[in-house]
Amino acid sequence: MRMSHRTMYARVLAGDAAANGQFFTGVVTTGIYCLPSCRARKPKPGNVRFFPSCEAARAAGLRACRKCHPDDFARGADPVLEDIEALVGEIRREPARFPDAKAIVQRSGFGATRLFELFRQHFHATPADVLLRARIDAAKFQLSHPTGRAGATVLEISQATGFESLSVFHDQFRRHTGLTPKAFRDLGAAPQFSIALPAGYPLPYLRRALQRDQHSATERTIGDVQHSVVQLSTGPACLKLRLSPTTVEVELADGPAHEAHAIVAGWIGLGQDAGAFSRLATKLGLPRLVAGRTEMRISQTASVFDGLVWSIIGQQINFPFACRLKSRLTTRVGTQMADGLFAPPTPAAVAALNPAELIPLQFSRQKADYLVSAARLVAEGKVDLESLRTQSATRAERTLLAVRGLGPWSVNYLMMRALGFPDCVPLGDTGVTSGLQALLHLDERPDIDATRRLMTMFSPYRSLATAHLWQFNQPPPI
Ligand SMILES: [Zn+2]
Repeated sequence: MRMSHRTMYARVLAGDAAANGQFFTGVVTTGIYCLPSCRARKPKPGNVRFFPSCEAARAAGLRACRKCHPDDFARGADPVLEDIEALVGEIRREPARFPDAKAIVQRSGFGATRLFELFRQHFHATPADVLLRARIDAAKFQLSHPTGRAGATVLEISQATGFESLSVFHDQFRRHTGLTPKAFRDLGAAPQFSIALPAGYPLPYLRRALQRDQHSATERTIGDVQHSVVQLSTGPACLKLRLSPTTVEVELADGPAHEAHAIVAGWIGLGQDAGAFSRLATKLGLPRLVAGRTEMRISQTASVFDGLVWSIIGQQINFPFACRLKSRLTTRVGTQMADGLFAPPTPAAVAALNPAELIPLQFSRQKADYLVSAARLVAEGKVDLESLRTQSATRAERTLLAVRGLGPWSVNYLMMRALGFPDCVPLGDTGVTSGLQALLHLDERPDIDATRRLMTMFSPYRSLATAHLWQFNQPPPI
């Protein structure tokens, strides 16, 4: 694809990392060439020349920028990203070694401003956010694997994971899991548990998200109980959910309750900073974007593979048809449960299909190919989807973009709906563009570049902004 000078310049102004590698930017006044995403001062359009490769830029007498390291990128190496990922790896392994964000800055060797910028770019989070999440995850692990720390008390676990006090541990643990540490530990033995919803949680939006597919083969609502079949490490299991304004009661027939809890917590969207986004919207003079749903979260898919299947099926077709295709795939390859519902398709079951078998189910040739080839990558262990949750957003984006059938829209959709990254925009999404048009009273729908530009005001919460824009032109749920 050849881009015009204007398009490339717009990418440079937007600092678009997705354009890295597609071209290199030379600045004739400074004699330097850069990646399109370089954070250095933006050059004037008249001073910019574009090159297809580093070699071409060097042949024109330019030298590589020392900020964005275009040669490293072209070689496939990204030393700054690798440094940050190694640092986050250390934090996740031993969160108690880092008393606070200042300790992370010291350990990093970067200046504080630069480190915050790098964490935001690559992890969509501040160092303190990453540290808190690492502590919660470590505590969850220790509470759910009692053999690891036999007999450790909740207080000991809170200290071992670096929380400054027991009360901070309790508050944060509850905010991220909807349970006290003790209730989380007791999950192992309980076929039932109850997750507390955050104050002001707009339940009708969760209900709409969970029940939006009327003909789902994996879910059904009977009375006020939602039945959903999910895949746990022990095999498919049926979850029964009873939703109330303050709690979600969960009943699990059998299987590991900690895994069921993680799935339901994802559906609810626990741990997302809904309040911070609503305050930002208000500060921007746009409280109407969040009116009536200031505490709304992004409901996460039960597994990353579920999200992947949905993002490929949903491409370029309308919602009801996408639901029909999903249900046909599920009943074709999913296991049927005692109550008649089906388990969501596993990567192995989809990988075993011949794409031609999906044509009679009304899949297009291309959709069938994409779906089966993506499932094979996962089933053969070439792409580890679940591990992307704890990797950097940059790595997750690159890994997913390399999967045939996933373009920038699907990748960003997956990152926000399945991996929980808070600062993604599925560019080209019609719900986002029509939401922006209505929200900002624009004469026409913004194009991709205008969408990218407009959405920067919502950073670092662009995923939540996207979710609210999806709701903006819809009637509120009952
Ligand atoms: Zn540069």
